[in-house]
Amino acid sequence: MLEKMQERVEVEEVVEEFELLTKDAGRVQRETLKKILEQNGATEYLSQWGLNERTDPDTYRACVPVVTHADIEPYIRRIADAGILHNSSIITAKPIPAMSLSSGTTQGKPKYLPFNDDLVENTVQVYKTSFAFRNREYPIDNGKALQFIYSSKQFTTKGGLRAGTATTHLFSSPDFKQTLRATQRPCCSPDEVIFGCNYHHSLYCHLLCGLLHSDHIQLISSTFAHSIVHAFRTFEHIWHHLVADIRRGSLSSRITSTPIQSAMAKLLLQPDPNLADAINQKCLTLSNWYGLIPALFPNVKYIYGIMTGSMEPYINKLRHYAGEIPLVSADYGASEGWIGVNVNPKSPPEEATFAVVPNVGYFEFIPLDSGGEAVGLTEVEIGKEYEVVTTSFAGLYRYKLGDVVRVEGFRNGTPEVRFVCRRNVVLSINLDKNTERDLQVSVEAAAKVAAAEKVEVVDYTSCVEASTEPARYVVFWEMSGGASEEVVEECCNCLDRSFVDAGYVSMRRINGIGALELRILKRGTFQKVMDHFVGMGGAVSQFKTPRCVGPANGKLMQILAANVVKTCFSTAY
Ligand code: AMP
Repeated sequence: MLEKMQERVEVEEVVEEFELLTKDAGRVQRETLKKILEQNGATEYLSQWGLNERTDPDTYRACVPVVTHADIEPYIRRIADAGILHNSSIITAKPIPAMSLSSGTTQGKPKYLPFNDDLVENTVQVYKTSFAFRNREYPIDNGKALQFIYSSKQFTTKGGLRAGTATTHLFSSPDFKQTLRATQRPCCSPDEVIFGCNYHHSLYCHLLCGLLHSDHIQLISSTFAHSIVHAFRTFEHIWHHLVADIRRGSLSSRITSTPIQSAMAKLLLQPDPNLADAINQKCLTLSNWYGLIPALFPNVKYIYGIMTGSMEPYINKLRHYAGEIPLVSADYGASEGWIGVNVNPKSPPEEATFAVVPNVGYFEFIPLDSGGEAVGLTEVEIGKEYEVVTTSFAGLYRYKLGDVVRVEGFRNGTPEVRFVCRRNVVLSINLDKNTERDLQVSVEAAAKVAAAEKVEVVDYTSCVEASTEPARYVVFWEMSGGASEEVVEECCNCLDRSFVDAGYVSMRRINGIGALELRILKRGTFQKVMDHFVGMGGAVSQFKTPRCVGPANGKLMQILAANVVKTCFSTAY
């Protein structure tokens, strides 16, 4: 009781602090920049730009250039090679203790980014703030959380720095773990499961731990919503193994990792035929797995994870599993640092916006329409789209994040932004320019045609096929079941017609761009794609299906090419 009251007081304090910070967002931004530059102005990177100890935004913007990852990669490489004893003063005054690997699904390979304690501190602040707003709307009791979280492979750089995904570093930070317990309740899975080196085994055991604690699970979460959908899709195929383990009171011999076996033995203490029967019964009676989550976990209050941007295509499936349980979209951040918090947790996930947190970094926004000069946080205009530029406490200065956001409004003095898409154009041959959002819109339209025949699009990607004249768009689909020739043809035509940008339409009309090709993939192909990224050091927790396969991504192309079962050309033009 006392604990609950204390939590309520703390939550209100966090909200109040956030309101204060955002009311004075302009001043907080100036102070944040000053702090970053005072700490790091003497580093090799910053001293070359002639700031001469000046820390005001105007001087900063006039002297320091806007950069991309490629521009700063040589510095990052030197930090990784030099190691913790010799890497201070390159981009940050304090040494960089670890390297993050971003998911890298856009570029085809993970990229290194500096990670330090300031990022942990920012994460704790963002998690607490987000929880404070969420808990007002959806209070949770003292139950447990089923969190589909996984660590990545960990490497050591040449200089001896730990390298892994940002989420992996966070999961091993005591401060972060404490915050995670406080804001999402204790995770029902032991650390051995989270840090297991085979994610198939970790996923199996996450599900098993959830079932063993089924009545106590109050929250189901993951970093990105894809992990939750992936988990329950997997459940559809393996549930009888899980039920058998519960009935026997011992872990399946398929799970071969010794640390996981020992940790799970402490949970699977004795046979539980009653629980096994109950789960069995539910699985047999659900219609097409609708409402699976509340059927298995009757006390779940909400489902939580990033559902915007490249996660939107999974929302329908998540809703299907969730039945009436609310979906709450999580915050906006990157391995580079945090940007904003979802302070309106009741808004539907597709409409989630993020109030930019003015003290976790210094933010600038490049207007997309004019492509002009970057403007400051408080200078953005409602309704306009911008590319995000961040300056962090971890050594990134005027760094283009590669994301496009739209300003939807203001929360006090700070903008609330909606995530639009990654900046780079996904598909372009000629005059046409289509982003991942345009591709998503086309896929959604065509998926409706398939849905009418009770077939789902499990996942998708695309490429430009330029080896023939004229070049054309190719869209790859994995579907949940076999679709007839006619349905595939209709989907293909619908995809082609749904790219409505004037460049595409005009070039298609004169055959400057060839007929769109839809290639249907074998079931399980995107599982292989994920295995490939995880094998390269990515984490399931941060996995995002690449929406376009570029020439640099030969291995991915090989996986797709080897799994095509059907192909179809549009006759829409
Ligand atoms: P990573 O560094 O691998 O975790 O990827 C970070 C990227 O994920 C960001 O730059 C965004 O493109 C995307 N992302 C992160 N949070 C969100 C969000 N809330 N909505 C949409 N996209 C997001």
